[in-house]
Amino acid sequence: MHSWTSPSLTPLPASGLPLRLHDTRTGRAVPVVPLTPGRARLYVCGITPYDSTHLGHAATYHATDLMRRALRDTGLEVEIAQNITDVDDPLLERAERDGVDWRELADSQVALFSEDMTALRVIAPETYLSVSESMDGIIETVRTLHARGRAYAVEAPDAAGPDWYLDLAQDGALGEVSGWDEAQMLEVFAERGGDPDRPGKRGPFDPLLWRAEREGEPAWDAGELGRGRPGWHVECVRIADEGLGLPFDIQAGGSDLVFPHHDLSAAHSVALGRPFAALYAHAGMVALDGEKMSKSLGNLVFVHRLVRDGVDPMSIRLVLMAHHYRSDWEYSVEELTRSDERLTAYRAAAARGGSHPHTVDALRAALRNDLDTPTALAALDAWAAGETPTTADGAAALPDDAPGDVAAAVDALFGLSLQQA
Ligand code: ZN
Repeated sequence: MHSWTSPSLTPLPASGLPLRLHDTRTGRAVPVVPLTPGRARLYVCGITPYDSTHLGHAATYHATDLMRRALRDTGLEVEIAQNITDVDDPLLERAERDGVDWRELADSQVALFSEDMTALRVIAPETYLSVSESMDGIIETVRTLHARGRAYAVEAPDAAGPDWYLDLAQDGALGEVSGWDEAQMLEVFAERGGDPDRPGKRGPFDPLLWRAEREGEPAWDAGELGRGRPGWHVECVRIADEGLGLPFDIQAGGSDLVFPHHDLSAAHSVALGRPFAALYAHAGMVALDGEKMSKSLGNLVFVHRLVRDGVDPMSIRLVLMAHHYRSDWEYSVEELTRSDERLTAYRAAAARGGSHPHTVDALRAALRNDLDTPTALAALDAWAAGETPTTADGAAALPDDAPGDVAAAVDALFGLSLQQA
């Protein structure tokens, strides 16, 4: 899949100081030490392209973009792989409902997503693969799991052959990422795409590996497993393997993916006899009118509508920066107004120019401390107000050649352009 156009990049000279990132699995912020020296590899779960980018999506890909920029600032090369879940129940149902071909619906929504990512100045992933274009590889992974004795058949009365599930009990690997107990898992499993009560399953959380062909659904040939389409988790495992190789450094996504998706992705990898991600980083949920923004509730604020209504995409980026990426927060129009004011003030300060090495240093320190954008904004507010930052940790110790161009730094570190639109 063609990815979008990345903004031009002018990185700062690398700081060499490590990024500390919160790991969902351990519950602690840890320095990111890549498995391959010098090269950090990150996988972020992409969209199901049936409805365009809302602020919840934007928050996730903004967080991933900050991870990339922070890792790059430490001196690492960064590779990101991202999937597009274009073979999935909600997309197929929406296409059926609207009487359009599922591929056309997916293509149109992927194009809209690309426009939004370009507007927000999110750097494009190095590997960007849809499920449909990765199908040969996904089938190979499903068949490997079957050959390793990890798959079992469940009768499907409405299909010519059985559906296939992953037998989690064989490896005993579930809850590795979330740390949840069974009761917590049961509470959300069904509403997040699971089928705990399906007759014939060996365990309630066993995930669907391969769904036998149903009438009117797209299907591919998986040899001894029959014609059908893959389950959700195995798709990401395969695309991560193709794009990055297993294991890799960071699995990122929204916090609603911790369970079941990331727990079960890791479980698939264990069943393949290979470790998955070294660290799991999750972005918080965005709410509107007191409820989490979600397609099922319909309370969505779309990036492209804001842009169409004349909102500067950099103001949207500032709204996202105003909240720590891990926090859940609620969007309001006042947030946007505040961000517009900030953008105007920052642009005026950038136009005044000058060298502000302590501000740049504060921005970098905030970013590498678990992507602390609220603290970075406080430093920018002070800079825009003409205040000299007072930093506790040795403000006077900066070398003479420390970078001092704040506009260049916020561009490189936060993807925020302060050029007049
Ligand atoms: Zn995924």
